[in-house]
Amino acid sequence: MEQNFQEITVEQLCKVIDLLHPCMDDYLYVYDFINDFYYISPHARQRFSIPDNTFRDVVRTHGLFVYPPDLEPLQEDLNELLAGERSFHNLEYRWLDLDGQPVWINCRGYVVRNKEQALYMIGCINEIGARQKADNVSGLLGSSSLQAYLHKTPAPFPEGFLLRLGMDDFKEINEKLGIEYGDMVLRQTAECIARCITPSQKLYRVVADEFLVLDFQGGTYQEAGKLYRQIQHNIVRFVEENHYEAVFTISGGILEISNIKDFAYTNVMKLSEFSLNEAKRQGKNRCYRFQEEDYEQFLKRKKLTQFLRQAVYDDCKGFEAYFQPLFHADSNTLYGAEALMRFHSPDGNMISPGEFIPILEETGLIIPVGRWMLEQALAACKKIASRIPDFRISINVSYVQVIKSDIINDIVAAAARQEVSPSNVIVELTESGLLESNPHFTRLLAKLKEKGIRLALDDFGTGYSNFHYLHDLRPDIIKIDRSFTAKALANDYEYNLLDLISGMVHTLNLNVCVEGIETEDERNRIQHLSPDYIQGFYFGKPCPYQQFTEQFVTVSH
Ligand code: C2E
Ligand code: MG
Ligand code: MG
Repeated sequence: MEQNFQEITVEQLCKVIDLLHPCMDDYLYVYDFINDFYYISPHARQRFSIPDNTFRDVVRTHGLFVYPPDLEPLQEDLNELLAGERSFHNLEYRWLDLDGQPVWINCRGYVVRNKEQALYMIGCINEIGARQKADNVSGLLGSSSLQAYLHKTPAPFPEGFLLRLGMDDFKEINEKLGIEYGDMVLRQTAECIARCITPSQKLYRVVADEFLVLDFQGGTYQEAGKLYRQIQHNIVRFVEENHYEAVFTISGGILEISNIKDFAYTNVMKLSEFSLNEAKRQGKNRCYRFQEEDYEQFLKRKKLTQFLRQAVYDDCKGFEAYFQPLFHADSNTLYGAEALMRFHSPDGNMISPGEFIPILEETGLIIPVGRWMLEQALAACKKIASRIPDFRISINVSYVQVIKSDIINDIVAAAARQEVSPSNVIVELTESGLLESNPHFTRLLAKLKEKGIRLALDDFGTGYSNFHYLHDLRPDIIKIDRSFTAKALANDYEYNLLDLISGMVHTLNLNVCVEGIETEDERNRIQHLSPDYIQGFYFGKPCPYQQFTEQFVTVSH
């Protein structure tokens, strides 16, 4: 380009950008090297976390919104331009969006010079990641059209609702019947939905297998529910007419406009996504109505998940091992301790395992935290076993650890490191449907026996009690859960049932541990059932190691 562009001033270019920017989705910019000044199309502020659409101190300010790993290549490219090695800038890298998420852009620009001196660069930024305006598979408008429409609508939005629809298990259709078939199903689903809506309602395809119906015409929750059921009905008919080749259902999340406080696009999308996810979480093929309390609960859980993740990252800081004594029921002497996990969240609360263990299991974090816990429990066992050689440490193991990690190896390695004999270790497994005929468990049981580690079946009497387990798993100990103990203490029928069960367990030569004994009276009544071991607040609550040794080890030995 050998023209006299240097005659055009930066002010004039900014005016041209102001004139052109409403006509395009891309972002025009000018970078004035002389005054260290940057100007970009004003609508870039609605997409990226830039401080303003005009700023100075250009390189340092880019540090605020360029995805950090991409800063170095950008700097190198700029250096080459300024050194006069090239005049054309063409770089694909990432900027951060308003949520701080990286977004791929292609930034191109031309450097205008006066002789050798670089005066300014003018160019355009295009998004190159997927931001679909329209979707040719479903024939619907895509999420960026929805975004543009919502942007145009002044807040607060008119009364009405958003119904977000998601196909259940769509991935399976693609996997089993191929992508082309999947595309056909998507198209048909879009048609099923389109047939149900009124001309004033709008329909978009938001992501892969999700659609959104927008009603700004005062549609009520009841009307949204009715619409969902009609769509559900149409899907069933499609599946039937298609001779059950692809059997699938659809879930829906209803968000009433009156429930929205922050009308920013990202927030509205978050709430509608949450609503759909709730419908799926509650069992799919159903509709969920957004409720503020549920969302707050969800955010609380999300925050706790972040705390847990951070704690794992910080070498399990915040986790603590507690110990609860287990006694021989006949002699009242200490048999061992159950190691129980505690979590002190950074906001000062102590969270109950009932709340955080399911999150650790869901996220897989139970694997690293479980290893940490093993180390704590075995270190404690080693110290106590130097005074009470047959002291047993009972460790809770989650099914996730069994299925997704080499738990036996972890136990054996930790026992070797802590110089604890595997015969001092008891593994507590919770009985649940998952235990049944799962090859992971069969292998685990064989290995436990081989290494001389004992197995306790935890939570016996809750939910899934199945006498097959006693035969299949051959546990050494059956732990009767507090809920069963409490029922047996309150009710003759349950008491007799517990009596029968312990009798049967004893005839199989297995041991019974009764959990959850809180008073002397309870202890006396349970004593009639001749349990082998007993555990409960009456004998001692779970407590830190130091307290445990002072209370139960030093005293008796
Ligand atoms: P669990 O293994 O059945 O542990 C016994 C629970 O009963 C403990 O609750 C204990 O504090 C409580 N308990 C004991 N005696 C009494 C009593 O007399 N009255 C009452 N009301 N409760 C009593 P905790 O510590 O809240 O633990 C809850 C559950 O969390 C445990 O049930 C276990 O399933 C799980 N858990 C705890 N620590 C770990 C761990 O390190 N790993 C895994 N995978 N799960 C753990
Ligand atoms: Mg237990
Ligand atoms: Mg238990």
